[in-house]
Amino acid sequence: MMHHLDTRSRLTLFVALSAVPLLALALYSGLERRAQAVDVGRAGLAELAALAANHHEKILDGARQSALALAVVADPLGTDPRRCQDALKRMIERSGGWYEAIGIHGADGFLFCGTPGSETRSDVRERRYFRAALETGKFVVGGYQIDPSSGQQGVVAAHAALDAQGKAMGVVSVRLSLKKLQETLGSGRPLPRGGQLTLVDADGVILAERPPAEQRIGKRISNPRVAAAIRTAGERIFATEETDGTRRVVAVRAVGSAPEGGAFLHVVMSAPARVVFADANSVLLQTVVGMVLAAILLVLGAFYGAEAMVLRRIRDLLGMTNRIRAGDLTARTGFTHEQEELSQLGHALDEMAQALQKRDVELKRALRELSEQVITDPLTGLHNRRYLWDFLGRDMVRARRAVLPVAAILFDIDHFKRFNDKWGHEAGDLVLKSVAQVVKHNVRGSDIACRYGGEEFIVILPEATMQVAVDRANKIRRGIAQMQLMFSGKPLEAVSASFGIALYPTHADSDEALVRAADEALYLAKTAGRNRVQVYHGAQSPF
Ligand code: GH3
Ligand code: MG
Ligand code: MG
Repeated sequence: MMHHLDTRSRLTLFVALSAVPLLALALYSGLERRAQAVDVGRAGLAELAALAANHHEKILDGARQSALALAVVADPLGTDPRRCQDALKRMIERSGGWYEAIGIHGADGFLFCGTPGSETRSDVRERRYFRAALETGKFVVGGYQIDPSSGQQGVVAAHAALDAQGKAMGVVSVRLSLKKLQETLGSGRPLPRGGQLTLVDADGVILAERPPAEQRIGKRISNPRVAAAIRTAGERIFATEETDGTRRVVAVRAVGSAPEGGAFLHVVMSAPARVVFADANSVLLQTVVGMVLAAILLVLGAFYGAEAMVLRRIRDLLGMTNRIRAGDLTARTGFTHEQEELSQLGHALDEMAQALQKRDVELKRALRELSEQVITDPLTGLHNRRYLWDFLGRDMVRARRAVLPVAAILFDIDHFKRFNDKWGHEAGDLVLKSVAQVVKHNVRGSDIACRYGGEEFIVILPEATMQVAVDRANKIRRGIAQMQLMFSGKPLEAVSASFGIALYPTHADSDEALVRAADEALYLAKTAGRNRVQVYHGAQSPF
């Protein structure tokens, strides 16, 4: 799969993969911090529950003090109902609304004395608190109850009334105001958003609640997990799902401990999990968002950094090598020579290209010289026979297409052998070179002059008329005749040559035929006495 990716994607992928362990580490520490924040959130909720429980602990303590104070004086008070009534009334007045009714009952339920709203004998004997107080001789707190005669809701704190020997002889009961409990629930501390603080009795019946919910007072707490936590006294903190599907965190805390075991009351503090764990969730969110941003920055950095740091130069290298491949040896990367590998590669390529270019120039020059040599006669510097046929072949095609004439002047040095024989081969070479000089002086732009054989020369005049060719041949002939050659300090004999001329298309229809016709004319010039110019006039009509 990797080989489908371009370099940039590979580099980006490499960086992204390298970042994975870092991101994993960040995620791990984010989860760790989240766990800590979860603990902090739970502790906060538990603390609210503890504060509320403490508050109610104090209230119950106050009720215990009051009940105990009456309990020790119950025996003498019971003997004077009017004094007793007054004492109870004063206590209610001083309670600041906390106590709604106080009664002192005998062990059989007979009411010694009581404020209005005190329970009758038949009612009180049914109460669990009554029996518990009598049996333990201690302070107890009853559950939620409705007074049958007054119809008032309440919860009763009670203490055994003691005789002079400290034995339980009856019960002092103080009915606490649910309204007061409601008002002071949570001692005015703000609840978390969506939070709920509930005060329940030992059976899980709701006594007070914040925010206030009148219709729930006197009902059993419905959530089974909460109910179970209340049954097993002590502090509990757990998460639970409501019927509407929202998750709540619940902290349950006992208030006071009953002499027969268990707690008098319970405080239930609950709040939506998303509120309790808001910090935890935002901690994790921050971590994740930070990670995602870091990853994006990393990938973007790699994507654009790769361009600036690597890819641009790789493309420069590629462009340069492609130009070289296409034959442009002047291509260079222009990279400066640095330690870094791509610079070194570019520099090496530049040097390679420079060497190639130099070699190329040398080769081309050598090739030019060689092809020049291939078509040049080394002795005279004129073109050779090979070039003659090349040129004629091309020129005839052109001439044929454009219907243009081509003239051929073929000439041969007269009695050349004599120079060789008399003066030696070198003298012959001197004659040949000197004749070539004369020829060179008498050719123009498009004409060509060749050494055709040993001492035979040919001049081709494209687009020349017969007259022009004859004039040119005579000019060369005179030029040769006028040469005054010196060899080894001695003058050589005069040189002459015989000329044959033929014209395309008048005398021949091909290059070979043209040269053959010129040769025939030359033969005629020789036989007619040499040192002259002869125009071809038909093979069938020799002299
Ligand atoms: P004619 O007037 O009939 O042409 O007489 P000629 O002596 O010129 O004729 P022939 O063709 O018999 O002689 C040509 C001689 O040219 C023969 C050969 O030795 C000589 N020769 C050919 N090439 C060279 C060369 O490159 N240098 C020298 N020095 N002599 C050459
Ligand atoms: Mg000859
Ligand atoms: Mg000759």
